[in-house]
Amino acid sequence: MKKWIDAGMKTTGLIPLESAGGSCGVQLADEGHIRYTTVHLTEECNLACTYCFGQGHMSGGQMSRQKAVDFARWFAGQARSGSYAVAFFGGEPFLSFSLMRLIIDTIEEHRKPGTYFSFSATSNGTLIRDSHLETLERNRISVMLSTDGDQETHDRFRVDKRGRGSFADFLKGYEHLRKVQPKVTARLTFTPETVGDLVRNHEALLLKGTSKN
Ligand code: SF4
Repeated sequence: MKKWIDAGMKTTGLIPLESAGGSCGVQLADEGHIRYTTVHLTEECNLACTYCFGQGHMSGGQMSRQKAVDFARWFAGQARSGSYAVAFFGGEPFLSFSLMRLIIDTIEEHRKPGTYFSFSATSNGTLIRDSHLETLERNRISVMLSTDGDQETHDRFRVDKRGRGSFADFLKGYEHLRKVQPKVTARLTFTPETVGDLVRNHEALLLKGTSKN
């Protein structure tokens, strides 16, 4: 697998970010030309959701600052014209907010005339504070929140490392985010145990004023 990844990196000029604790996924628009990339800033998370896809797989590592700069220079450099997008992912990307800022600033510094970059992040919402808002607004970072729906369902599965429900912190983050992103988008997670409550949980999201997803 590693041999295959390394060979692919060499062919496309990609940087093997996996070795830094973070990683990046890419979508080829045409040969050697990439418009959309997902950047895993960190494999660390402040929550311990019972169904987490990363349980037992995530190292807890964080992308190094050097790898973040290398990635940003490369992504801006390979752009030709038109629109490009970076999606920040984790773990919880707000644990690595300074890296997010570093990548955005470096892309801005190196981008060519006629190329445009947009940014998004998927977050559990619990760490979003007023101190993040200026950066989110200035760079028009579109944040998508993850939730399970109403408080009862959310707190059952989306717990912190001491097993406490995270709904109250999620709601605080959501209220902060609304100040700069009035239409907050949320992604609803459902499991075999909660699929029967899908309508109720979906309505709980709409009551909060989120866009459905
Ligand atoms: S917020 Fe996401 S990454 Fe963090 S524990 Fe929950 S599912 Fe896993």
